[in-house]
Amino acid sequence: MATIKNSLEGTMETESLSNLCDVQDSVEEASRQLAFFFPNFDKNKTDQKAERTLALIRPSLLKERRDSIMQRIRDDGFEIAMQKEIILSEKQVCEFYKEHKNEDYFPALLEQMTSGPTLILALTRENAVAHWRGLLGPTALEEAKEDPNSLRALYAVDSSPINQLHGSSTTDDAQKELEFFFPQEHTLAVIKPAAAKEHKDDIMQKVKDAGFTISKIKEEALTRDMVAHFYKDHEGKSFFGDLLSSMTEGPSVIMVLSKENAVEEWRQLMGPTDPEEAKNISPESIRAQFAQDILSNAVHGSSTKQQALENIQYIFGEIDID
Ligand code: ATP
Ligand code: MG
Repeated sequence: MATIKNSLEGTMETESLSNLCDVQDSVEEASRQLAFFFPNFDKNKTDQKAERTLALIRPSLLKERRDSIMQRIRDDGFEIAMQKEIILSEKQVCEFYKEHKNEDYFPALLEQMTSGPTLILALTRENAVAHWRGLLGPTALEEAKEDPNSLRALYAVDSSPINQLHGSSTTDDAQKELEFFFPQEHTLAVIKPAAAKEHKDDIMQKVKDAGFTISKIKEEALTRDMVAHFYKDHEGKSFFGDLLSSMTEGPSVIMVLSKENAVEEWRQLMGPTDPEEAKNISPESIRAQFAQDILSNAVHGSSTKQQALENIQYIFGEIDID
């Protein structure tokens, strides 16, 4: 999936890479590294029991009773971790429901699913998969109607023979379905030397609270060559020399962060380049809270997906993040 395929040949000087090349090639290894560098990282309280499931609110229900079903979802203790509203293409529906393609009801399902926007939700709560399935009731609408309290009965729509709510059947399915609608993205994040020295744990906590998966992590000093590579667009600017010095003055924490929309979300969490601006417009951001000044501004993040891929490959080599 997210294999970074291009070879590294010719993209860097081998010498500067040699000490960075002990590539860890699994998330488990990243977790071990994380536990080593940040022994308290996992002891902080987060909701260990929260589980995620995928819910779909089909077009007819969404059009007719959106507010009611959304309220019901919240009343049942679910949080909406991610959502998007899209008109699914025939291709997407066929792919998502490929196991149902030969069933009698498939044409009606296809018709319903492409008839307007579907609301796609990543729901979290304790035991989310089983709980949401339990609330939905039986798959076949006729059977669901025998249980008048089931959500599929309560939210049936006269105009459609198709149940109006979907939920993943197992945690494995949930994982696959979430990945289908909310594919992971990866970005390169660096905690710059000054911040790595002073605020590492606080910054790592913010990374975690924001829900990023740390797919790779290492702590070491960047070389001038590496920094010049990251910031090649800034070569020639007045601050370029200072940037090279400040970025190489000590160990940095270098990470691959993974999440849906990771590039943009990490930039939002970093905040604006200038910490004074960050304090004004984004006081919860990392730069607002932990940056010294516009130069030593705590963190770096890729600007685009393309830049992220290129720099992840540059630092970690040809890797398969997933
Ligand atoms: P980054 O690329 O580090 O994630 P950014 O994309 O917000 O930050 P850029 O414009 O790409 O900001 O600048 C790269 C880095 O150069 C900044 O993070 C900062 O360390 C430094 N820098 C940028 N502008 C200035 C400036 N006017 N004076 C001093 N240093 C600056
Ligand atoms: Mg930048």
